[in-house]
Amino acid sequence: RGDETAPAPASQAASTLGAPLVRLTDVNKHFGDLHVLRDINLTVRRGEVVVVIGPSGSGKSTLCRTINRLEPIDSGSITIDGKELPEEGKDLARLRADVGMVFQSFNLFAHKTILENVTLGPVKAKGIRSAEAKQRAMDLLERVGVANQAAKHPAQLSGGQQQRVAIARALAMQPKVMLFDEPTSALDPEMITEVLDVMTALARDGMTMVVVTHEMGFARKAADRVIFMDAGVIVEEASPEEFFNNPTSDRAKDFLSKLL
Ligand code: ADP
Ligand code: MG
Repeated sequence: RGDETAPAPASQAASTLGAPLVRLTDVNKHFGDLHVLRDINLTVRRGEVVVVIGPSGSGKSTLCRTINRLEPIDSGSITIDGKELPEEGKDLARLRADVGMVFQSFNLFAHKTILENVTLGPVKAKGIRSAEAKQRAMDLLERVGVANQAAKHPAQLSGGQQQRVAIARALAMQPKVMLFDEPTSALDPEMITEVLDVMTALARDGMTMVVVTHEMGFARKAADRVIFMDAGVIVEEASPEEFFNNPTSDRAKDFLSKLL
């Protein structure tokens, strides 16, 4: 088989998996007549890295967006750290702060500096004092390797740098879980690695992560579990070794064969 010497997933190096942190139970979501999420059941444990893969239109982004209620669900329940996500109001803002999100498009505030991009949330939404927010932001920018860009504006940075700032900005809110929706899909090839390296380090540090990606190398290396979605259904769920070496469903086999 030859995979006996494969390293343990990055996220397990630092910590063993903890209690359930994100739990979706029988979640259904429609867009009009389109049934986008069908009876989704998914538990993500503290410290776990779940990689979600599947063809375009299978519902991966919608799944991410429901987890922090950017999209309401039609039925079922979603809990973060045991607490049900409310539909609206103050509690929703608080619970949403527990869920950091990084999108394909970096979505930085164009007219703010890099440092301001990272301090704004903590100061406005969490009431952190400015000096402390700056200190923390600089630590985070250091961690993602762009501290020397702090005074610049987003447009002065490369795509890879901007995406690393977006990760720092999400981390500044001290989320319990980080969602990544195709974070490297808009990047030039030479910048993909620098973003994946930051994500791998985050996983190794024990962050709970849900990552939608087409980067199979990252999935093999960093995932504790791979979820394969197709047409709104979780078709298959397995360790990366199992999934990539022995996919069981025809749909997963077909998907993987097209990647080669
Ligand atoms: P993926 O991220 O796997 O490509 P999405 O979750 O973005 O899939 O989309 C799943 C399906 O839902 C697609 O058919 C898409 O066209 C549809 N969809 C996504 N967002 C909306 C929306 N806001 N309104 C209507 N249809 C949508
Ligand atoms: Mg998507």
